[in-house]
Amino acid sequence: MSRRFSSYIAGQWIEGEGGHADENPSDLATPVGEYGVVDAAHTAQAVEAAAAALPKWAFSTPQQRADVLDFVGSEILARKEELGRLLAMEEGKTLPESIGEAARAGQIFKFFAGEALRIPGEKLASTRPGVDVEITREPVGVVGIIAPWNFPLAIPAWKIAPALAYGNTVVFKPAEIVPGCAWALADILSRAGLPEGVFNLVLGGGRTVGQALVAHPRLDALTFTGSAPTGHALLRQAAERALKVQMEMGGKNPLVVLADADLDKAVECAVNGAYFSTGQRCTASSRLIVENAVYDEFAARMQARLAKVRVGDPLEPGVDIGPVASGAQLDTDLAYIEAGHADGAELLAGGEQVEWKTPGHFLAPTLFAAKPSDRIAREEIFGPVAALLRADDYEHALALANDTEFGLCAGICTNSLKHATHFKRNAQAGMVMVNLPTAGVDPHVPFGGRKASSYGPREQGRYAVEFYTTVKTAYTSA
Ligand code: ADP
Repeated sequence: MSRRFSSYIAGQWIEGEGGHADENPSDLATPVGEYGVVDAAHTAQAVEAAAAALPKWAFSTPQQRADVLDFVGSEILARKEELGRLLAMEEGKTLPESIGEAARAGQIFKFFAGEALRIPGEKLASTRPGVDVEITREPVGVVGIIAPWNFPLAIPAWKIAPALAYGNTVVFKPAEIVPGCAWALADILSRAGLPEGVFNLVLGGGRTVGQALVAHPRLDALTFTGSAPTGHALLRQAAERALKVQMEMGGKNPLVVLADADLDKAVECAVNGAYFSTGQRCTASSRLIVENAVYDEFAARMQARLAKVRVGDPLEPGVDIGPVASGAQLDTDLAYIEAGHADGAELLAGGEQVEWKTPGHFLAPTLFAAKPSDRIAREEIFGPVAALLRADDYEHALALANDTEFGLCAGICTNSLKHATHFKRNAQAGMVMVNLPTAGVDPHVPFGGRKASSYGPREQGRYAVEFYTTVKTAYTSA
């Protein structure tokens, strides 16, 4: 175990304190490496470095920004196998999924390299004679990025790339359990030609480093992806000081299966959406809402399909689902399985840990036949645990789909154009899928939700410009 991951502040690598293990959830005896944590004073230094670098970077040329982002994207793409392997070992996603995520991170940097050259503006005629009106977009300033562990390359990429493309400077705080992926991104960014202080990485805890970042008066904007309780607490804190925020929080995403659906396709959508990436996606289908007429058949097919799913080390070929990412998350998942039993839900599959050659956090994909009021059907679990709910008909299924505090993604499997069209219009979610898993989105179009799932402007694609810029209206009289 020779790898040590450190922070990057004002163009310098900062070792940080201690030797915290960067665990491999598939093999707890063999950590991926270790990392040191920085403190509140280092975090303040990072914000101040970003603030000092801002005036120059805000006026850097679009070409300079495009070149930096293109360099980063090209290197990530060229090294996607190696970076994917690191991701698979650190977070537990299967190797094909991990390599896919690395490739996506590279493509996102490439996309925003292009966007840096297309920063939009408008020129309008004034209502007054002899006056011109120009509407331009300027950087919002120093952007704090607080990221989760479930997409340790892609989520930082879709926050860092637009921040830099639109002329902002960045302090990036990754989740504690994925320092290696964060360090790998920082390593590439440190060689991309950025002036000192434009990009900073701070490794450390949420309550220490995260809080020091959010509380710093020089921070202009905060983009957060993580759990709903943390996000809502940060939202209140941000409101007190009128910080511009973008929050992506939890989901309790429904997948509706109607009686007229192609059931083979519906089962694949459900298995992919609920269990791939170990169910650790905010867009995971954690509520499978099935029309009465096909409920028993669907449940039986799910049981048969889940019996064939292979749980194990994500580096091993043929493994479909890797481990739960951490001991803390495994405890949460097991507690929800207990809650499912306590609420009287019927266990249809899984429900227990799985043995592997190495000691790890392996959990069988778990399916309960549940009631809409059960905790497992209402609260976000963030693990391979799904609730199967029975619906009388389409209207009942739609009502159940919308009966949640969350509103990230909603899916439907149907061959009815009428129901698909109605569902797209009436599902209370930021994203809707028809005959597709709820998880799995394109990188060039907006991502985000409604209700308790999201707050603030959308992420990704051209819509990212809303959060990462502020609008100026200029009037000129010749
Ligand atoms: P999870 O429980 O899945 O780790 P969290 O919402 O707690 O989800 O974490 C998401 C990110 O928010 C992580 O980078 C974490 O360190 C950070 N974080 C957690 N608590 C706080 C906090 N009080 N202030 C700032 N950041 C925090």
